Amino acid sequence: MTRRLLLVHAHPDDESINTGATMAKYAAEGAAVTLVTCTLGDEGEILLPEQAHRAADRDDSLGVYRAGELRAAMAALGVTDVRVLGGLTAEGRARWRDSGMAGMVSNARADAFANAGSEAVDALVEIICEVQPQVVVTYDSRGGYGHPDHIQAHRITHAAVSAAAAAGWRVSKVYACARVLEVEQQDRDRLAAMGEGAPFRAGDDDFFWAVPQWAVTTAVDGEAWLAQKAAALAAHATQVSVAGQWYALSDGVGAALRGTEWFTCEIGIPQRVDGALESDLFAGLEV
Ligand SMILES: [Zn+2]
Repeated sequence: MTRRLLLVHAHPDDESINTGATMAKYAAEGAAVTLVTCTLGDEGEILLPEQAHRAADRDDSLGVYRAGELRAAMAALGVTDVRVLGGLTAEGRARWRDSGMAGMVSNARADAFANAGSEAVDALVEIICEVQPQVVVTYDSRGGYGHPDHIQAHRITHAAVSAAAAAGWRVSKVYACARVLEVEQQDRDRLAAMGEGAPFRAGDDDFFWAVPQWAVTTAVDGEAWLAQKAAALAAHATQVSVAGQWYALSDGVGAALRGTEWFTCEIGIPQRVDGALESDLFAGLEV
């Protein structure tokens, strides 16, 4: 049976940042890889001065533009099945809008993804029943770093996986992508030690969004696809700057570009042997 992987991400760029190497690896190995983006990231900050007019408080055309960045990123990763949850309007807008960071006034909009209800669950159930993935990847219940759309992606995904089981397709494993605390601390120290030569500044937060090593179940080695991941990140040029082995978002804090990506298994049984992390999202499944 073909291995089928479905990833549910909140905004264009999340898929490349968190799971780019994993997507490229499974696609290259012949698995069917489907990306669902829940919004087009309309509220993102814009790194490119020539695209600044697209901001939500100006032309409000960033989402439409980011759909093009997403297409280029997926071409770099070799992923051909890309869907926007709920489909697109005639103007190329997504059914649900980027809610913006927690606390922004955009959180309250009726069309904000954070306020989506059963319609969003139903739309994802339809995709799950059509694609029939054995493995689904999204975020943990904190939405990683707490963005309302990431939290909502987690909720919608788990609700849809449950509903799909009743509707005829049972997903075997659900993972949350994870950034590992100890790895992030090492990367920050490495960047700080570079001093003036550092491509981006070292962050000073407490990594509240990271997951301690002991809580991670799975590490996918996608080092062979690191160049594709870098190209995918670079394609999201309104959002991401890439410099050598590092990248940064609009806050300018550097993060290491890594081919290994980590996950926590939230549904299903991770196949860990002698305490080693599971290395394949499909491990233990008859595929
Ligand atoms: Zn996001």
